[in-house]
Amino acid sequence: MISVEEALERILSHVHVLEPEERPILDALGQVVAEDVVAPLDIPPHDNTAMDGYALRAADTRGAREDAPVTLRVVGELAAGYLFEGEVQPGAAVRIMTGAPMPRGTDAVVPFEETDEPAGRAFGSFAKSRDVVGILKAARPGANVRRAAEDVRRGQTILRAGALLHPAQVGVLASLGQATVRVHRRPVVAILSTGDEVREPGEPLRPGQIYDSNAYSISAMVQASGGIPRRLGIAKDTVEALTAKLRGGLDADLLVTSAGVSRGDYDVVKDVLAKEGEVDFWTVRMRPGKPLAFGTFSSGARRVPHIGLPGNPVSSMVSFELFGRPAIFKMLGRGDWQRPLVRAVVDEAIANTDARRVYARAILTQREDRWHAALTGPQGSGMLTSMAQANALAIVPEDVPGVAPGDEVDAMLLE
Ligand code: AMP
Ligand code: MG
Repeated sequence: MISVEEALERILSHVHVLEPEERPILDALGQVVAEDVVAPLDIPPHDNTAMDGYALRAADTRGAREDAPVTLRVVGELAAGYLFEGEVQPGAAVRIMTGAPMPRGTDAVVPFEETDEPAGRAFGSFAKSRDVVGILKAARPGANVRRAAEDVRRGQTILRAGALLHPAQVGVLASLGQATVRVHRRPVVAILSTGDEVREPGEPLRPGQIYDSNAYSISAMVQASGGIPRRLGIAKDTVEALTAKLRGGLDADLLVTSAGVSRGDYDVVKDVLAKEGEVDFWTVRMRPGKPLAFGTFSSGARRVPHIGLPGNPVSSMVSFELFGRPAIFKMLGRGDWQRPLVRAVVDEAIANTDARRVYARAILTQREDRWHAALTGPQGSGMLTSMAQANALAIVPEDVPGVAPGDEVDAMLLE
């Protein structure tokens, strides 16, 4: 039996960051930028107004007060999206809307609230009414002006290779006018369930059979981790059936099977790996999830890393969480696969009878500045609803025989 750390290290040594591809920016959410993104333009592209009001020369407003307004000639009106023709002369002002480029000659904007313009006047009506405006407050040069390039300067590196695309980064790329971005490709993960008893949801269940939950929980985890799940279906418990189905996943970046890795008579995943590839290891010092086969499945020149998850639904998910998710992150070019760990007080005892690392399904809550971990109930590795309730895994180290209520453990946050 090897440690969780060693198992992870061995698996990660078999996967590598995938080649870059050009993607529409929205599809690239959660992917990693493969090369530096350099701004092709200034943002904003020109000086523009941050307020609705009057663009003018600040010098013209000197001494303006509520009881002693300065009167300026209104020489035009400008909405965002248009340029003012000509230059604004001393003593003149342009009625202007947020985002409109500053007219030549002006250096400040006085908002409507600081003028004598009645509230609620419609755009386009100035010519019909007054052609003068009273300024009630002196403006400093630059007041309410957003400077060209104050956010982004042309030629500046905006995203470095290796940056992860969150919603804000997607927005920044759009603001630069980029419709696509070069990112590391998402890994395709082929997922195969095994077991004579396993049936596809939607089909009738005969006595002795169960529905395939693993293919769905694992596919969902692949997707949530940024990979592309591809389900290969369900294989019978024979070397031939398993091999045939696995061949359908040879063009994937990672093969994941569930079940068939224990010591039972029909646990054939190891046999297949031994015959059609290489077995690296097949047990990990952890609970749940001790039986975990890892190796490479090959056919001709093609070699695909293969994680053989345990069949029990909770073991399967916990093992994928610890080993599959980091493998996907590495292929995506992400280094941040470690989930946040917090110290939490356990509310009940957790036993550790055979010196394995225990990952107990827990509900973590914060009370009086401390995290508390309550177990989700019975911890049977076949009880998938215990996983559905959990928001964390409470970890009991392998060299500790158990923890008592009030003891502190590390808890891994799952969301
Ligand atoms: P095995 O590793 O084949 O001994 O399977 C361990 C347990 O997991 C058995 O009770 C299986 O019926 C169950 N199991 C195996 N595959 C699945 C699956 N795809 N979905 C739900 N349970 C499964
Ligand atoms: Mg089985």
